[in-house]
Amino acid sequence: MTKVYVSKIYDFSFVDGPGNRMAIFLQGCNFNCEYCHNPETINYCTNCGFCTAFCENKAIIKKDNVVKFYSENCCDCGCCIDNCPNFSNPKTKSYTIDELFQYIQKKTRLYKRSNFFRR
Ligand code: SF4
Ligand code: SF4
Ligand code: SF4
Repeated sequence: MTKVYVSKIYDFSFVDGPGNRMAIFLQGCNFNCEYCHNPETINYCTNCGFCTAFCENKAIIKKDNVVKFYSENCCDCGCCIDNCPNFSNPKTKSYTIDELFQYIQKKTRLYKRSNFFRR
């Protein structure tokens, strides 16, 4: 089954275009912009574990050669990303295409109900 790797989802963003919108940042960008403003979305995590030492909240832990992310412990300080030597993100989450669309549809229904949705 095809999976997409998502670096971050902003449910509401008003800096990524006109109006309020959801912004989904995928992992594995294959552009090479000179002034990249999201370098942590370029490479896939290699599970090296280097960044785990910078997480005071124990939200990222390396176990069985895999770095696992515990979102409930994360305060979004960004220290892991700032210290990754690989331009990656240990908080990347994989979705099937269906799962991602279900997430989008769920939020879209909420936006429509809240009158926050701009057509
Ligand atoms: S993540 Fe960086 S390299 Fe990729 S499109 Fe955005 S700015 Fe360009
Ligand atoms: S995010 Fe970077 S430093 Fe952290 S485990 Fe992945 S590759 Fe290593
Ligand atoms: S952003 Fe989250 S996972 Fe990363 S160092 Fe901060 S608390 Fe830990």
